[in-house]
Amino acid sequence: MKITYSIVAPIFNERENLPELHRRVSEVMDSTNEPWELILVDDGSIDGSTEIIRELAREDKRIRPIIFARNFGHQIAITAGWDYARGDAVVIIDADLQDPPELILEMAKKWREGNEVVFAVRAAREGESWFKLWTASLFYRIIYRITDVKIPLDTGDFRLMDRKVVNVLKQMRERHRFPRGMSAWVGFKQVGVEYKRAARVAGETKYPFRKMFRLAINAVTGFSYFPLQVATFFGFASAGIAILAIPVVAYMRITGSQAFFGQASTLIAVLFLGGVQLISLGILGEYIGRLYDEAKGRPLYIVREAPKD
Ligand code: UDP
Ligand code: MG
Repeated sequence: MKITYSIVAPIFNERENLPELHRRVSEVMDSTNEPWELILVDDGSIDGSTEIIRELAREDKRIRPIIFARNFGHQIAITAGWDYARGDAVVIIDADLQDPPELILEMAKKWREGNEVVFAVRAAREGESWFKLWTASLFYRIIYRITDVKIPLDTGDFRLMDRKVVNVLKQMRERHRFPRGMSAWVGFKQVGVEYKRAARVAGETKYPFRKMFRLAINAVTGFSYFPLQVATFFGFASAGIAILAIPVVAYMRITGSQAFFGQASTLIAVLFLGGVQLISLGILGEYIGRLYDEAKGRPLYIVREAPKD
């Protein structure tokens, strides 16, 4: 049977949210009167979500469970969703219902009008700490400034993509991924719809600061050489200062001035340069580590159970 909509939900310990997710997605998608499937990607849950997913899939044949061998992370789970989706349009949605399934109808309308990527813009967010809101907002703005692709501000992974777009994304097998950047990078006709991001239905965020930070680094390194250019900039700046300092110091020496001499100023200069060099080395290391990961060419994820077809 030909499928129009594939709804992909990455799941990591979302036991309490699954029945509600299934209910709301079914309600919304049934109202379209078109064939749809719900792809539940179990990203190594350890709270019993896996059993619930299996059970839901037994009851409702429109559910396709993809069960990972371990936790691979949200971005990789989304990737598996792209790989297994069969629909003409693929929707990525969070399993915690922070993204209202009802918005899919509006996205589908825009898609029918000829748009190939319909992303959801978070006009407001509920039930998240000021720290999360602030860091998220800062994150989107920094990424916008320094990366080479114009990733729309305040958009998450909640979006609808045409089959054409998904087919391109499926060929992009980079390991450290930033899906919303990738979907902006491919081009095509893109449009946003605004929504109010709700609070989680149940459970806690699976994105502590550490993971958000990693995602930010993936975004920056995956889409720009900016950090490497910063190192070059610092190199030129300190060399410039040193060259300018030579005649100044020589002049001071001749006139007998003692300012700037002594251990403290030397120590500060050495520490500063040492710091800049180590940071630059670290930045280089980030890129080299990523190269190494790509060179190994391991599969992006390992599936324990997946539908045969
Ligand atoms: N998620 C996942 N693997 C992970 C972390 C999260 O599949 O390692 C899923 C999670 O179950 C949810 C979605 O990714 O469906 C978004 O995660 P979360 O709601 O915790 O992020 P937040 O909305 O707080 O940014
Ligand atoms: Mg969430």
